[in-house]
Amino acid sequence: MHAVRLTHLATPLIDDDIPEPPLVSGDVLVDIRAAGICHSDAHYRAGGGSVTLPLTLGHEIAGVVAGTGQRVALHYLHGDGRMLGKEVDGGYAERIAVPAANAVPIPDGVPFEAAAVMMCSTATAYHALRLAALRPGESVAILGFGGLGASAVQLAQFIGASRVFAVDRVEEKLDVAASFGAIPAAVDELRDIDVVLDFAGHPATTLQALRSLARGGRIMIVAINLRELAIDPYRDVLAAERHIIGVSDHTREELVELLDLAHRGAIDISRVITRRVGLQAASINEVLDDLDRGTKHLRTVITLSF
Ligand SMILES: [Zn+2]
Repeated sequence: MHAVRLTHLATPLIDDDIPEPPLVSGDVLVDIRAAGICHSDAHYRAGGGSVTLPLTLGHEIAGVVAGTGQRVALHYLHGDGRMLGKEVDGGYAERIAVPAANAVPIPDGVPFEAAAVMMCSTATAYHALRLAALRPGESVAILGFGGLGASAVQLAQFIGASRVFAVDRVEEKLDVAASFGAIPAAVDELRDIDVVLDFAGHPATTLQALRSLARGGRIMIVAINLRELAIDPYRDVLAAERHIIGVSDHTREELVELLDLAHRGAIDISRVITRRVGLQAASINEVLDDLDRGTKHLRTVITLSF
C-alpha cells in the first residue's frame, strides 16, 4: 500500500510502497479517509521528539473499519502509551491497524476530515479547558491562533465563557479569530483574565499573560516549544494565588464527548479546515514547510477518495 514516510530525521518525507499492516488479535484494519497534518508532524520531521524510524507520520486519523464499514476516528494513544504517527506507524497511508479500543465511532453528520482533526487539536483544546475547570461567565485568552485556537474559541463559547480574547502576531490570524467570535487583543491589553490557553510558547508573551491573570486565574501550558520561563514566584504566582498548569494529550472519553458535541452542532470543526491535499509526499512536505514558516492556514487535511 502507499504510505508517505519519514526515513531520516530532518529530511523530506518520501512516497513509499509498504506491506499491508499486520493484524494482530484485538486489532481492526481501518481504510483511511482523512488524516490531519499537525504542527507536531513538522516538529517530528525536523528531528524533535523521540520518533521510531522509518515511520509513517500522522496521528489525526478517520476512516472506515474494513469489512464492517463502521465510520471511526482513532484515539492516537495505544494502551501502552505509544503514539500513532510517532512511535508506531500513523495515518499518512491508505490503511492502518489499531487496537479495536482505539477506534471511536463517528456519529452521523460529522465528516471524516472534521473527526480526524478533532482527534488532536480539538481534543487538546478541550482537555485544556477541562483541566482549567472553566466555568460559565469566566474570561479566556488564547495565545497563538491556529487550529487549536479555533477549536478552543468554540468550546469556550459552548461552556459559557463571558469573553474570549485572541492574541497573535499575525494580523490575518486575528481576523480569523474575530470571524470565530473572539476579541483580537495585544497581550499587554489583557486584564483580569480567568483562563489563559498558551498555544504559542513565546516566553515573554507567556509571562505577560501570566501577569494578566485575575486572582485564582489559571494559565494552561499547551505549547510544546516553551522551554524556559523565568517567573517571580511571589509577584507572579503566590500573591494572587495563580495556577500554572501543564496540558498533555487527552482521554478517549473526551473524544467521545467531543464527537457528540459536533453531532449536536455545539461545535463546527469543518470551519477549521482551510486546505486539503492528496496522499503525496511532495504536497505534504509543502504543508510541513509552511507550518515551519508559520502558516496562515488553520488546518490542512489529507483526503483519500475511493
Ligand atoms: Zn497533533
